[in-house]
Amino acid sequence: MSTPDAPLAPAGAPLIIAIDGPAAAGKGTLARRLAAHLGLPYLDTGLLYRATGRRVLDAGADPHDPAAATAAALALQPEDLDRPGLRTPEAALAASAVAAVPAVRAALLAFQRSFGLARGAVLDGRDIGTVVFPGAQVKLFVTASAEARAHRRWLELQTAGTPLPLAQVEAETRQRDEQDAARATAPMKPAPDAVLLDTTALDAEAALHIALAIIRRPRN
Ligand code: C5P
Repeated sequence: MSTPDAPLAPAGAPLIIAIDGPAAAGKGTLARRLAAHLGLPYLDTGLLYRATGRRVLDAGADPHDPAAATAAALALQPEDLDRPGLRTPEAALAASAVAAVPAVRAALLAFQRSFGLARGAVLDGRDIGTVVFPGAQVKLFVTASAEARAHRRWLELQTAGTPLPLAQVEAETRQRDEQDAARATAPMKPAPDAVLLDTTALDAEAALHIALAIIRRPRN
């Protein structure tokens, strides 16, 4: 369902909403809700890296090994994105390891771009506004305090029936964020024209309302 005051992409250009930020900042929830609200397809790009990391682990290889990681990315199949076990901390760390390999990122780029260009999209990840769609009409960089993010991820794991101690979840998210921000290729960082959205004190509904207000405000 498209709202009358939703932003209009220039004639013929699909509307791309890029949402980046660190782990468990609320990007996925926000991106999914925005997509439903605006009638746009949604792509969780982290799943591509998680599925690639999972393939490497399943093959008994090291996700830091560029050759194994690249082979897994090139062999990725759509059904890999539906397999169980992609949300575990192990898969998240493997994703972050393969994501530092430039050839892996190159292999996954075309899919992300053609997904967005087909009908417009909301995409969430780490480099959507900087690399995948640097010309996106809307760019949000979603953050929250490290404590709030770790607590959210801890709750998610509890709900999924795979509880872990909070300290372990905190350590895993910190390690991943440091790795993602420090890598040489497509590091996690806000695009110069991204709007920062801190969700520390916001619930999902409040974050959606603020994001919609940002999207609808006139841009030059
Ligand atoms: O978003 P999610 O936490 O599922 O992402 C898992 C990992 O995939 C991230 O920690 C990051 O290393 C990688 N990733 C990336 N670029 C993206 C999306 C995810 O490097 N656009």
